[in-house]
Amino acid sequence: MKILVINAGSSSLKYQLIRMETEEVIAKGGCERIGIPGGKLTHKAHGKTYVIEREMPTHTDAISLVLAELVDKEAGVISSMDEIDAVGHRVVASGEAFKKTTLVTDEAMVLMDEIAELAPLHNPAAILGVNACRAVMPGKKMALVFDTSFHATMPDYAYLYAIDYEDYRAYKVRRYGAHGTSHKFVAGEAARYLGKSPEELKIITCHLGNGSSISAVKGGKCIDTSMGFTPLAGVPMGTRSGDIDVAAIDFLCHKKGMTMDEGLNYLNKQCGVYGISGVSSDFRDLIAAKEAGNDRARLALDMFAYSCKKYIGAYMAALGGLDVIVFTAGIGENTPSVRRDAVAGLEAFGIKLDEAKNEAKGDGIREISAADSKVKILVIPTNEELVIARETAALL
Ligand code: ADP
Repeated sequence: MKILVINAGSSSLKYQLIRMETEEVIAKGGCERIGIPGGKLTHKAHGKTYVIEREMPTHTDAISLVLAELVDKEAGVISSMDEIDAVGHRVVASGEAFKKTTLVTDEAMVLMDEIAELAPLHNPAAILGVNACRAVMPGKKMALVFDTSFHATMPDYAYLYAIDYEDYRAYKVRRYGAHGTSHKFVAGEAARYLGKSPEELKIITCHLGNGSSISAVKGGKCIDTSMGFTPLAGVPMGTRSGDIDVAAIDFLCHKKGMTMDEGLNYLNKQCGVYGISGVSSDFRDLIAAKEAGNDRARLALDMFAYSCKKYIGAYMAALGGLDVIVFTAGIGENTPSVRRDAVAGLEAFGIKLDEAKNEAKGDGIREISAADSKVKILVIPTNEELVIARETAALL
């Protein structure tokens, strides 16, 4: 069985074709600059990279180009589109309309339109991607796989904000979370690695990338997560503030003459470790700057690690104990100093890092806790595309 995974953005589209029997990526790539001049497709297959520069006015043009490349005599990996058994689409927000992976139907797409306002930067792009695939591959089975689904198991007291309950009911304003496919994947991988059933484990999964979120996973189910109604909540991120008193932003809007829209744009794009350091949103740059003596880079890194530590502490309480901490995504997988600082001083809670293992580079799953640590600390490379493909295959 072969599943095509599509992750559509407003002007970009990434894809992977995965053979499910071996879970191997047969081809992958992406289209850039859809709808704007300078369109480019980068396609990787047979250990080679193929680049096609061509205008792609619409997402349908982009999908057509991807499919042409997949069946191309030289760069292609399949002989016809019939070899694609189904398409899995990544969707950022599900609202309360979808609790799990869902087959693409006319009815589902009506619901997708209704919830698009929950993620105005992302969901409309996913709709474009789905519609493009339906146009180019009519009748092909497709699935909507939501970043939020894994968090649908949170109890009401964890997902609700303390606002007027009737407003929650009317407008569905609540915590939805993000990065669900990643949290789900690494929690499952942790259980598999430890040879345990997910039901037995209390896990804190730290997805630390450009956007970061931390989840509490009990018995294989998410019971709390740090992102909120939008991905602006939780720990500070590359350019997002993370948790902030909303009254402070109202105050800042008045002082800086910003509208609420501008204020939200400011919180999303100019804050986080970038805003604090004034250096970069990239942790590699921050670490280099700190080593060169930049104190604001040091401050940004300290704030990030401290915030992660507070979530770990809070989720240990929410879980009623802890068996495993998982670090994943760009920073979680590649930045030992962040992992070290996020768990420093937690020895009294049975969390003890092995400094040498933490510093060592490696691929695949790595255990970085000390031999006498009660809590296992693991680094697990995430694979969101594989989860989307698995969910799509399971739906078939
Ligand atoms: P996104 O949320 O955009 O998918 P990533 O998960 O790629 O982001 O994470 C981006 C962050 O991860 C950056 O801050 C970057 O510094 C860090 N990062 C990514 N790759 C590496 C690497 N190989 N070594 C060190 N840091 C990395």
